[in-house]
Amino acid sequence: MGDPAGSSGGERIGETLIDSSRLHGRVSELGAEISRDYAGRDLVLVGVLKGALIFMADLMRSLSVPCEIDLMAVSSYGSATDSSGVVRILKDLDTSINGRDVLIVEDIVDSGLTLQYLLRNLRARDPATIEVCALLTKPERRRVETPIRYVGFEIPNRFVIGYGLDHGQRHRNLDYVAVLERGQGSRRRPFSRPEAG
Ligand code: 5GP
Repeated sequence: MGDPAGSSGGERIGETLIDSSRLHGRVSELGAEISRDYAGRDLVLVGVLKGALIFMADLMRSLSVPCEIDLMAVSSYGSATDSSGVVRILKDLDTSINGRDVLIVEDIVDSGLTLQYLLRNLRARDPATIEVCALLTKPERRRVETPIRYVGFEIPNRFVIGYGLDHGQRHRNLDYVAVLERGQGSRRRPFSRPEAG
């Protein structure tokens, strides 16, 4: 038989933290806010693969201003539960952002180290402006303060899956955000991105 609950290795989809209607409602609000702020400007959305894929697809469709998109993939290294801030670019942008209004679209900001690296790296390419839109943030986990202009939801310190976020590359397709529940004896999964998160 299949595995309708999506469980594997003692881990399963737990409590729903943000259901589909709250998720889509908030994405529309963010789209309206960003559309107001970027009217008449030269907006480039920079999505961070793979986690931001679903969020970015919905966010860009809720914009009423013209935009271009580009994508980056990064991997960060760390210990079992902490990102180290050492980031490697697996896929770089295809286009130049020089003189343009860049909005980084992230799935989740945890320690903030990945975002700090991305901001430094992209600022060095001389965009006209650079801001961040993150679907989720975990303020309790923050190790470095990075400016996040647009935040979807602040969440507690739990490992979440769904709406682009994975566990072992699965669960990205859920249309809601849920907590990953770990059964007894299951190994903890790194918070870092061993591959493009
Ligand atoms: P940071 O550098 O902010 O510590 O790490 C950010 C990255 O860690 C996210 O983009 C994501 O890949 C991963 N991450 C952090 N928290 C979670 C979580 O709760 N669920 C999932 N699926 N990934 C997470």
